[in-house]
Order: sequence, then structure tokens, then C-alpha cells
Amino acid sequence: MILILTLLQARGADRVLVDLRLWDGSGAPVVEDAWVAVRGDRILATGQGEPPPGSRQSLGGRMVIPGLIDAHTHPWAVPGAALRGDDEDTRMQARLQGLRAFVACGVTTVLDAGSSFEAMEALRGWESAGEPSPRLLSLGPVVGPSDGYVDAFLEGHPGIDSVEDAEQHAARAKQAGAMGLKLTIEPGYFLPVLPVHSAELRREIARVASQHELPLFVHAQHRQAHLDAIELQPRAILHIFRDAPGDLPQQLAREDIPVVSTLHVDHGPLVWQTPQALDDPLSRLVVPADQRQTATSRTGWRRYKAAMARVSLPHSAPLLQSLARRAMPTGDYLRAAARRSLRNLGRVHRAGGRIVMGSDSGAYDEIPFYFHGLSSLREVELLVQAGLSPEEALLAATRDAAQLLGLAGEAGTITAGASADLVVLDEDPLRDPRALRSVTAVMQRGELRSPEGWVHGGRRSAPVVLAPIQGGPP
Ligand SMILES: [Zn+2]
Repeated sequence: MILILTLLQARGADRVLVDLRLWDGSGAPVVEDAWVAVRGDRILATGQGEPPPGSRQSLGGRMVIPGLIDAHTHPWAVPGAALRGDDEDTRMQARLQGLRAFVACGVTTVLDAGSSFEAMEALRGWESAGEPSPRLLSLGPVVGPSDGYVDAFLEGHPGIDSVEDAEQHAARAKQAGAMGLKLTIEPGYFLPVLPVHSAELRREIARVASQHELPLFVHAQHRQAHLDAIELQPRAILHIFRDAPGDLPQQLAREDIPVVSTLHVDHGPLVWQTPQALDDPLSRLVVPADQRQTATSRTGWRRYKAAMARVSLPHSAPLLQSLARRAMPTGDYLRAAARRSLRNLGRVHRAGGRIVMGSDSGAYDEIPFYFHGLSSLREVELLVQAGLSPEEALLAATRDAAQLLGLAGEAGTITAGASADLVVLDEDPLRDPRALRSVTAVMQRGELRSPEGWVHGGRRSAPVVLAPIQGGPP
């Protein structure tokens, strides 16, 4: 008898979360009065009504959704660090803080879409040492020609100028644990002055990537670059395009090539004129004071424009750069660009194309607006503004992102056997995506903490206790 009991207990849950509303990310509707049984770092089972044995934790009628997945981030980047002149120690601390910010916001998995091999190794080291961090997948250094876009913006990304370069690079990326390769087709962010690979070399790079079983992700921000990308049949294109669509939306849908949204790239800078957007409690918690200051001050804005002029014309004389700085985007230009990318994403969606959530959080240290964690939540809000339903936007940030990254069944859904990654919310994001900011707790790999616990707690922290939400369950 005792033996049987012990066996039953051994098979049972460590913990059963009860009194919750479950949206499990599978596409199924919300289950009221649900429970989620967790064992170690895994989801054991989910159900409705009477929960199985195990130590129970009430979530007070709150909504539970899968941990979010951001399919385009740069966790090594520190927003605005280059404009402040942060030293390396300060940047290191900020990087650790950025990883915590992701989890505090409910983003439990991210794709690092471009880091040097050194950065990749350091990030992985932190993750395996138990530092609070989202699950990190990486594409390694970005593949672009010498003196091109990559050189202009990023350090530690060697120029790839031949098939031999590509072969060496792919072998090293594979060995370092990259899950794919990122190829950039970018003649310049504001002005088309930068060299790109020939079509022939691009095809060779795609062939090399496939030989190493590294799915190809292509950075492309304009229609022509998207068309060039489609020829390579990549796993995904890493930005929405900015210019006139032609029949590109239909073509993307026909070819079934997912677009990683990155609407926040154009929307993020608008925070400069609307600093009150950072006044909610979650923003106050996850955005460090120095980053907030750079992103919302006049000095920060001036330095940002100067840096953008410099990196947009990396090989030009200082005089030309200073002229370019004067011509750099104003608020009106940014608002127009933001509207265009929203419209284009809506067009791809209406054409039946696949959209996956990615924010480009961090990007590079010259940009002060792309806060880690918060950018991902903002991206989901923007997907809804572009025309996705709240549920479609959430699926783009959970199940569909997991599928893109080869994590189906492991992340993005709350289903038996998956990693125990989930977000507990006071409000319902299926009604309004801004509800993602009402996060009260996040479980990552079976560990449940409040956002404050993820930002300020140690490597291991005390369990959270949740009072019923005001007014009781809906
Ligand atoms: Zn990026």
C-alpha cells in the first residue's frame, strides 16, 4: 500500500496551479476554472475542474498564457550605451539586467538575431550558470560583405566576401551552437550607399547554410531585398518591408515564407516625444533610469541622430556626415515610416502570409529606444494595430514563433511535456493586448516569480504568493 502511494506520488505533480483561466497557445479557446500541473521544469498536464493531487497554488482567477517568444532580439545590445559612452563594466551589468527584463515581461524565449561569437559564448555562459535569462537561441554573427551594413553597425561580425569565407563562418557558427544563419541584404538604412553581396554569392551562402543544416534567416527591409530573399527560400525574413508593396504580400503568402514583424523598429523612436508611454509600473520596473533618460531627453535625441548619420554614411567625410545629421529623420518622418510598416504588415496578413512576432529589441548600442522585454510587449500591441486579432497576435508570439524556431511542443504552448514557461496576467490580452503589461508572475522552466523577483532576485528566489485579484475572478 505504502509502495503504491509512493509510486503515485512520484508520478504526480510537484505543484498544481489552480483557480486560473487558461489560454494554452494551441489555438484552443480559453478554459475557465482550469489547472496546470507542473513537475520540475515541465508541464505535466492541464485540465478543468477538480485538480490532481500535489501542492496547490491558487492564482486567484487570473489568466495564464504561455511564455512569450521574441523571434528577433539582440540581447547583447544595451539601449543607448554608445550615446552615453558606457564603459564595459556598465554594459555587462546592463546586459544581465536586460536578460532579467525579458523574463520579468513574460518573454521566456528569444532568438538572438546577431551577436559576435564572444557575445554568444558569454550569454550562453550566464544562462547555464543560472542567471535569470530567457531561453536563448542564436544565429551567431550576421553575414554581410566587408564595409557593408554589418560593419557599419556591429563589432565582431567579420565580413563575408567569398564562398570560402561563408564555409568557414558556417562551420564555426554550427560548432558554437547557432540554430541558423542570418544573411543581410541591406543597401543602407536611410540612404542606399552600402555594398551588398552579388546574387550569385547569396545563392552560394544559402547553399553553404543548408549544407551545414543551418536554416537561413534574411535581414531585408525593402521590397527589392524581400524579393531577393524569396529567391533563397529562407526559413524567414527578419523585417517587414518599408516601401510600396506591389504584389509582394501575395508572393510572401504564396511562398509561405514567414515575416518576423519588427514593427517596433519604426515605432520605438516615437517614445522620444511620448515619454509618458514609459510611466506604467512594468516599464518603471524594467527600464533602467539611464536608458530612460537617453531615450527621452533632447541630448539623447541629438546624439542618436548624429550616430545614425555616422553609421548610415560610414565611409564618408565628417562634413558629409554632419550634413546628413541635419537631414536625419524628424518626428514626422518617423511617424510616416511607422504608418507604412503597419500598413505593409496588415497587407501581408490579409494576403494570408505568416507573421511571427519579433521586436529587434536592443538592435545596436547607438539606438536608445529598444528596451529589452518591453519592446516585445509593444510589438504584440502593434501587431493588433496592423490588423491581426489579439488572438492572432498572441499566437504569433507563442505557438507560431515556436514553430519557426524549431521549438514546437517545447515552448509556445502550455501542453503536457512542454517546458514550464507561462505568464500570469491580471487582465485579458485576448480583449486588449496591452493586458500583457498587467503581468503579476512569470514561470520560467518551472520557477515562478513576480516581475520584481525576476528583476531584483538572486539566481534562486523565494516563491511568490498571489492574492486574489480585486473584484474576484471574472
Ligand atoms: Zn536585428
